[in-house]
Amino acid sequence: MKQLPMPIINKQRCTRCGQCISQCPTQAVEMIDQYPMIVHPAQCTYCGICEEICPLNAVELLYTITVHQ
Ligand code: SF4
Ligand code: SF4
Repeated sequence: MKQLPMPIINKQRCTRCGQCISQCPTQAVEMIDQYPMIVHPAQCTYCGICEEICPLNAVELLYTITVHQ
C-alpha cells in the first residue's frame, strides 16, 4: 500500500473557520465532528494551500525531500 504524506491539522489551534475546506482545490478536506479533516487523502496533492491560508497556522505540511539516484 502506498504511503501518502498528509497535512497535519492542530485541533488546539484550529478555530474551525473553514477556509482550508473552501480553498482546497481538490476537495480533500471536510468538516467532521466540527473539525477539518483530510477525508480524501488520495485527492490531496500536498500543494500547501491549506498551510498557507490558515490564519492560525494550524496546518503543517511535513518537510519532504526528493532523492535523485
Ligand atoms: S483554516 Fe485553519 S483555523 Fe480554519 S478550519 Fe482550517 S485548520 Fe482550522
Ligand atoms: S495540501 Fe492542498 S490538496 Fe492537500 S488538503 Fe491542503 S489544500 Fe487540499
